[in-house]
Amino acid sequence: MEITHIEHIGIAVRSIEEQLPYYEDVLGLKCYNIETVADQKVKTAFFMVGQTKIELLEPTSDESTIAKFMEKRGEGIHHIAYATKNINNVLSELEAKGVRLIDTRARGGAEGLSIAFLHPKSTGSVLTELCEHPE
Ligand code: ZN
Repeated sequence: MEITHIEHIGIAVRSIEEQLPYYEDVLGLKCYNIETVADQKVKTAFFMVGQTKIELLEPTSDESTIAKFMEKRGEGIHHIAYATKNINNVLSELEAKGVRLIDTRARGGAEGLSIAFLHPKSTGSVLTELCEHPE
């Protein structure tokens, strides 16, 4: 395993626009990117905090996993994402250790990262993402 830091914390929100004043005016963070990830049916907004990001996730469809999450649990922390090197090797290593994977190989995520999710059944119910930055 080569986890280097917490890449981001994903937070499910009904409306990025409604939450922006809290992050920008109250916490004094700057939203530096808003991006729609079409295949995940979410709009994302990013704030940098040190080398870690806060990622707000707003569903763009009722079919989005974020919409389904909020139906059950409301708004709030959705997942934690660790930055790692050699993500596909790490996934193989985790699988060999008996960790259930949602993605057995990395796929493309927001901001050009390679990402993969681990199953909450294997992570103490914390939806966990691994990310690798492009070289
Ligand atoms: Zn994420």
